[in-house]
Amino acid sequence: MACDSGRWAVLGVGLGDRLLMAPKCHEARGRSTGLDRMTGTRQEAVMDSMEIALEEARAAADRGEVPVGAVVLDAAGRVLARAGNRTEADCDAGAHAELLALRAAARLVRSPRLPGCSLVVTLEPCPMCAQAASFFRVSRIVFGAYDPKGGGVEHGARVLDATSCHHRPEVVGGVREAECREVLRAFFAARR
Ligand SMILES: [Zn+2]
Repeated sequence: MACDSGRWAVLGVGLGDRLLMAPKCHEARGRSTGLDRMTGTRQEAVMDSMEIALEEARAAADRGEVPVGAVVLDAAGRVLARAGNRTEADCDAGAHAELLALRAAARLVRSPRLPGCSLVVTLEPCPMCAQAASFFRVSRIVFGAYDPKGGGVEHGARVLDATSCHHRPEVVGGVREAECREVLRAFFAARR
């Protein structure tokens, strides 16, 4: 069920004027509030990486792709990989930004597992990408806009909550949510 977007709780401390917000209903469920438990340095890294993810999303839009961007950070907050959707360019329905970034990061570290890493993405991952993040053993998924129709983390299949999910990353949703949502809204409005 979609959250009442009018009920917001401010998350995050020490971020200056860059307030992080998430719906209270997620907070009440003890979900999507991990950012306020991070150290200041890690919060900064997540915020910076969401900017990079937004750049990837905008670049994807310029290519005619659904504008979603993703970044994988290592445990120290360094960017291992970044990607935007490439489903049209690659003729690959699975070429979602998250999957591309996860694969690139794994190749870089020469391991199929990415413990300690964070997947930062502009949109709530679909079931495929949420499951992939679990398979890659990332420690954290940070996403921007919630996706009541296609999301698979907080909506729909909620694959990370399934008994078949054996590794559940921490989930932080709603980071720079308005900006992430606006990139998508503008893209689809321009195509109508
Ligand atoms: Zn996906």
